[in-house]
Amino acid sequence: MKLDTLAGWARRLRARDISSRELTEFYLGRIDRLDSQLNSFISVTPDLALAAADAADERLARGDEAPLLGLPVAQKDIFCTFGVRTSCGSKMLDNFIAPYTATVVERMNAAGAVMLGKTNMDEFAMGSSNETSHYGPVRNPWDPERVPGGSSGGSAAAVAARLVPAATGTDTGGSIRQPAAFCGITGIKPTYGRVSRYGMIAFASSLDQAGPMAASAEDCALMLNAMAGFDPRDSTSVERPVEDFTAGLGADLKGLRIGLPREFFGEGLDPGVRAATEAALAVLRERGAELIEISLPNSGLSVPAYYVVAPAECSSNLARYDGVRFGHRCDEPRDLTDLYTRSRAEGFGAEVKRRIMIGTYVLSAGYYDAYYLKAQKVRRLIADDFRRAFGQVDVIAGPTSPETPFRLGEKSADPVQMYLSDIYTIAVNLAGLPGLSMPAGTVGNLPVGMQLIGNYFDEARLLGVAHQFQQETDWHARMPAAFV
Ligand code: GLN
Repeated sequence: MKLDTLAGWARRLRARDISSRELTEFYLGRIDRLDSQLNSFISVTPDLALAAADAADERLARGDEAPLLGLPVAQKDIFCTFGVRTSCGSKMLDNFIAPYTATVVERMNAAGAVMLGKTNMDEFAMGSSNETSHYGPVRNPWDPERVPGGSSGGSAAAVAARLVPAATGTDTGGSIRQPAAFCGITGIKPTYGRVSRYGMIAFASSLDQAGPMAASAEDCALMLNAMAGFDPRDSTSVERPVEDFTAGLGADLKGLRIGLPREFFGEGLDPGVRAATEAALAVLRERGAELIEISLPNSGLSVPAYYVVAPAECSSNLARYDGVRFGHRCDEPRDLTDLYTRSRAEGFGAEVKRRIMIGTYVLSAGYYDAYYLKAQKVRRLIADDFRRAFGQVDVIAGPTSPETPFRLGEKSADPVQMYLSDIYTIAVNLAGLPGLSMPAGTVGNLPVGMQLIGNYFDEARLLGVAHQFQQETDWHARMPAAFV
């Protein structure tokens, strides 16, 4: 069978060229045959998938027009799925069968999506390489010696290798965009509040946001249509009508003002990534966009501010894993303190423990003002930089990551080097803005992603710019040779 995009499969399902069962069996077969090379899935759920496919085929036969009807997808293992293990990449939740379903998954299911399984990820979404997963690292389909990025590395690798046409990710500091860039796919982190966080295991609640990952912007738009919308069960969910994200895909680029932050093209940027980004920008200019140099003067403070705010929130969110109610419990605890300490010591990996320690430190009496409060003030300055920039331009563009995918193990011993992977993405989360990464070229055989940052609730515009770019280029349609 010839591979197709999510949008392509949707048309073929409606034209009765193929049934959802055939399509589901086709992708389950690819996972079965190929995922041993990648480790992109933590759980594959063929029985549930085939039952959902049969239900979708019945709905299709009745003429039901639900947008994702019959389409195979994968869910990052951070989303609770009723009756299915939801591990969040951690030994702590290895035995956790979710008793309810996350809003994102519920909406996608209602739209007719067929879940094939749950994808691998950095433990509790903390990482940029997928190496902190309890279930082992994910490999990059373009080069198995290299990382797929993180934390949504399983989703990115699975989509890049076409083990599934689309998947969900979550992005707290870059975890949709950086793995999308490393694996040569498209992904968008929506505006904070656009997509419900209910049932999405919390890392840093003021930054976490879910979004789609797929080959193309058109496929991401289809997914986001199903994922976005107000949810009374998430107090930070925004009560605002959701437009049809596919409607703006045709928008022309004439007169579009694209801001290029000086700070995103400076020291530390790999020359190959720079050249690919500049070539991609030239394509947008040829289509009528105007390129304007801008400055985000405080963006250099985003990584340090993030590594105070995110650990602070994580130390509080992860306090719930105490061995009492759910998750890992140590054997034969001597007393309550022993139960807490041993369950947590055994259940969490090194990176998660590091974050909990940092977070506890910056929130403690005497350090709170010096670190946490200061970081909150820096966060405001960063958001103000963007506010000023969007007075001048419509979209901001630059590289997604300063480099191409690095080798497994290359940065594991140096957390600060690892943290710098997100140097261009983190400010977007601190400000709560939408950001997209799209395939924009290669260095050698390795993909390069270009980031587009939009003003609040401007996802449709970002998807439109990316779609126009994808009309001119075929980076998004290329596939790693071993998986064709
Ligand atoms: N790499 C960043 C971190 O380790 C971002 C992770 C994310 O977006 N979930 O925290």
